[in-house]
Amino acid sequence: MATQASTTPARARRPVRPPRRQRGEGQWALGYREPLNKNEQIKKDDDPLNVRARIENIYAKRGFDSIDPADLRGRFRWWGLYTQRRPGIDGGRTATLEPEELDDRYFMLRVRIDGGQLNVAQLRTIAELSTTYARDTADLTDRQNIQLHWVRIEDVPTIWERLEAVGLQTQEACGDCPRVIIASPVAGIAADEIIDPTPAVREIVRRYIGSPEFSNLPRKYKTALTGHPLHDVAPEVNDVAFVGVRHPEHGPGFDLWVGGGLSTNPMLAQRLGAFVPLEEVPEVWWAVTSVFRDYGYRRLRHRARLKFLVADWGLAKFREVMEQEYLHRRLLDGPAAEPPAVPGDHVGIHRQKDGRYYVGVAPVAGRVSGSTLGKVAEIVAAHGSDRIRTTPYQKLLVLDVAEDKVESLVTSLADVGLEARPSVWRRNTMACTGIEYCKLAIVETKALARRLVDELERRVPELDVPITINVNGCPNSCARIQVADIGLKGQIVLDRQGRQVEGFQVHLGGGLGVDAGFGRKLRGLKVTAAELPDYVERVVRRYLDQREPGERFAH
Ligand code: SF4
Repeated sequence: MATQASTTPARARRPVRPPRRQRGEGQWALGYREPLNKNEQIKKDDDPLNVRARIENIYAKRGFDSIDPADLRGRFRWWGLYTQRRPGIDGGRTATLEPEELDDRYFMLRVRIDGGQLNVAQLRTIAELSTTYARDTADLTDRQNIQLHWVRIEDVPTIWERLEAVGLQTQEACGDCPRVIIASPVAGIAADEIIDPTPAVREIVRRYIGSPEFSNLPRKYKTALTGHPLHDVAPEVNDVAFVGVRHPEHGPGFDLWVGGGLSTNPMLAQRLGAFVPLEEVPEVWWAVTSVFRDYGYRRLRHRARLKFLVADWGLAKFREVMEQEYLHRRLLDGPAAEPPAVPGDHVGIHRQKDGRYYVGVAPVAGRVSGSTLGKVAEIVAAHGSDRIRTTPYQKLLVLDVAEDKVESLVTSLADVGLEARPSVWRRNTMACTGIEYCKLAIVETKALARRLVDELERRVPELDVPITINVNGCPNSCARIQVADIGLKGQIVLDRQGRQVEGFQVHLGGGLGVDAGFGRKLRGLKVTAAELPDYVERVVRRYLDQREPGERFAH
């Protein structure tokens, strides 16, 4: 009674407001065609793919200062180009400076390698471009790309010419468009593969990459395909994923997942319950992408990924719109793909279905160099192979090795720093680009990852289970920190003396596969970069001392 007495008068005093109007999120299909932010305006003003002609005809000839800012910080991305971070600006100042103050006069250039599939001539070309035009830099990314740094605008047309001469490209390697189509690095060769997605990867690239149909999506758009039971492409964190499964009546095909993505508001991709035969994959990919283009949110950049639309609509509505408005047919219902205990990185020596072998090697946190890649190309050729694959775990595979050449190949690759039998630490540590080149970074990552691996190999050599350590240089999640056993998010922290230093917010216990989920962000658990080896050693030793038989770190 008392409650009623006290609330009723308050309610009566409140002015009656008209119902709030639903605010548009910038969905084109609902008529919101006016650009609602700077990025949308840039895309509307000119198709970003058109910037290539200006680079070739104007900017490469007249130099860096001739570049229109809307091209430099906007449309260049559609051709795989970002300005890199100006050296000497510490991470504490990242958020306080204007973009132009962070810009160096050099570029990161991302080579997209769809499906991670390379031949020797292609690898040799990337290596030569790195040593000639990129100060010998080369990083393997966790999306099967290779990134070069220190590229001058004057050299970009020549680089494109040489890449394209061997069938490689940088088109739509970055930007609000379909990024590299990642696929199982053992597609077509693994003995235990359910289905080879390669024809679908090629068809999606042929039909849609560089097409104006999808060169203006609300935000970046990540695709993954795998027919391997170890789900080797991190399908859970992609906007759209096709995951190999056997249908009881229709045989091998794909389970369709949508709406994954990390960064802020991380979400795992979810099953639509649809079964997609191999030959239908490009059409179904087109339908999902079209829904995103037309109904995706364009008002706020941080709400523009597909995952927000999927979360708001729910799976049933998403599937219904896709089927009714785009495919004009029902998709087959299908079974769920079985999640693996541990996702596959394919490091080590494995027998192919044709009796030959593939060998997976682990550089530390994806860092290699042009010189190293050049040596790898020669080693691969000398061992009778012409196929190399990059992986979504920053690794390299060499395919088609005859049994009697395996050990020689393994030794030769180890001589250039690429281990086929790496320690658990080296195998399971990944790092993003970090402050060395990235304008958003707050802390350094690659050198730190190397120091960490060296220290942990020395301190805890007995580790016998995979514990993944993913290092990010900022709150974005290019290195997938939320789904690592130990995820490290770069930020400025206070050390014991109260000084501001580089450090990390720790996320513990994330995973993919059967343990798919996000690590717990332990409130207040921050560690300085200098103390990181001590911290990781402590956590892992506690786990090793206290674990029950078979207990995984993630639990
Ligand atoms: Fe840059 Fe941050 Fe991505 Fe690392 S996570 S590459 S620092 S944006």
